[in-house]
Amino acid sequence: MLDRPGRLESLIRDLGDVPVVTDPLRVRKKSRDFFWYSPVLNEQLKDVAGDVLVEARNEQDVIATAAACARHGVPLTVRGGGTGNYGQCVPLQGGVVLDMMAFDTIEWHRGDVVRAAPGIRLNKLDEALRPNGWESRMHPSTKRTASLGGFIAGGSGGVGSVTWGGLVEPGNITAARVVTVEPEPRIIELRADAAQKINRAYGTTGIITALEMPLAAAYRWIDVVVAFDSIAEALRCGEAVAHADGVAKKLVTPIGAPLPRWFTPLKDAAPEGASLLLCMIAEGSLEPFRDIVRTRGGRITHEQLTAEEPGQVPLYEYTWNHTTLQVLKTDRSYTYLQLLYPAANAVETALKMIEKFGDELMPHFEFIRFGGRMTMSGLPVLRYESRERLWEIIALYEANGVMVANPHVVTLEDGSRHKRANADQLGFKREVDPAGLLNPGKMRSYVPVTVS
Ligand SMILES: Cc1cc2nc3c(=O)[nH]c(=O)nc-3n(C[C@H](O)[C@H](O)[C@H](O)COP(=O)(O)OP(=O)(O)OC[C@H]3O[C@@H](n4cnc5c(N)ncnc54)[C@H](O)[C@@H]3O)c2cc1C
Repeated sequence: MLDRPGRLESLIRDLGDVPVVTDPLRVRKKSRDFFWYSPVLNEQLKDVAGDVLVEARNEQDVIATAAACARHGVPLTVRGGGTGNYGQCVPLQGGVVLDMMAFDTIEWHRGDVVRAAPGIRLNKLDEALRPNGWESRMHPSTKRTASLGGFIAGGSGGVGSVTWGGLVEPGNITAARVVTVEPEPRIIELRADAAQKINRAYGTTGIITALEMPLAAAYRWIDVVVAFDSIAEALRCGEAVAHADGVAKKLVTPIGAPLPRWFTPLKDAAPEGASLLLCMIAEGSLEPFRDIVRTRGGRITHEQLTAEEPGQVPLYEYTWNHTTLQVLKTDRSYTYLQLLYPAANAVETALKMIEKFGDELMPHFEFIRFGGRMTMSGLPVLRYESRERLWEIIALYEANGVMVANPHVVTLEDGSRHKRANADQLGFKREVDPAGLLNPGKMRSYVPVTVS
């Protein structure tokens, strides 16, 4: 909560006609995300809330909010759909929560590039693009609730990353426009590599007001479930599909027994005791895909055109961080980890770690390209025992060459595979947010230039 009485009132006055919400219940609701996936973060963040909610409709509203916060020295935390997992949009020091979801226009679409406002929901973006034969290269499994700005500022990759890699790969963000947090905000256009300054910076390096994104050809995607007798077979078949460059695909997800037990609506496609491979395959690639599956002992139990309309559940909502959600829906005693396997021996390392942990972990993998090579991300689900055991498991993975992006911490540095802030992002922060008002507490290496 803000310490200085009257500061908030003056700030609200300065905002003029920009929509402001002060009802504590609504402000609290919009101060949360999916941090409760982590029992550690749930304890730490469950009572944290902002002081006021501002609802930006356009770039003018964003500039007015940035200027008012800078003049009054009030913390400013930007928010999209609020689907982040580590309290990314939780305002640790209170102040203004800036909701971007009403700022959702498409500026233009030219061939394989689109430029849009940050608040557009990712499914709305694809709905607008598909009639012209294009779609986003990748999206998180929260496509139906997350915003474009939140994905770029908070996400890493997802459905599509088996073909295109993550957001961090050169060329996956064409450009970004950001507003600085200063008494007289400036607008900066970041193009190509420079756009990485806002990627997964948790909204600490400027307020994104436009994103230019490269697109992919929109295929008719088919959701396919394949059942195997063991996770080893599911992994080996997944590896063969992932490496088959001629098979157009968007998702290759091995999931080990007994995790599929929680996929109730997929019950008929998930025989008891089976490990699964969940895939999205272009319709024209189904024949070679089926050949790969047949020669590796898989049984196709479900094939259906991907359906994303309300009332339907696309297969990708059983993958990425949705896999863990399927379990948490009925049992909050579980939690998860986020891993990156070494490309040189991803499957062998995964099998070794499965052996090491036994029943303690339920295996879940996502094939992805990383730095030009095929590898796997791992999102195992485990029953939460204690913080100490969680940290021990993380250390064991790291000792075996598996990188961990710890989802049980709030800072960029502690949650990164490299345990430090990206140097470009840290330097850029000084330029765009000298007083350190943007999402304070999340980039802990940053020392503010001025303190109000
Ligand atoms: C069930 C589930 C599944 C998920 N699957 C995936 C997945 O497949 N891949 C993946 O990468 N992530 C995944 N996530 C995490 C999250 O859903 C995504 O990263 C999502 O894209 C976040 O978008 P959002 O609009 O909800 O962002 P929010 O949660 O609202 O914000 C995320 C971060 O972005 C910042 N931000 C938002 N808008 C702006 C802006 N305009 N300018 C500057 N900063 C901004 C916020 O301050 C915050 O730090 C998943 C989460 C859940 C709960």
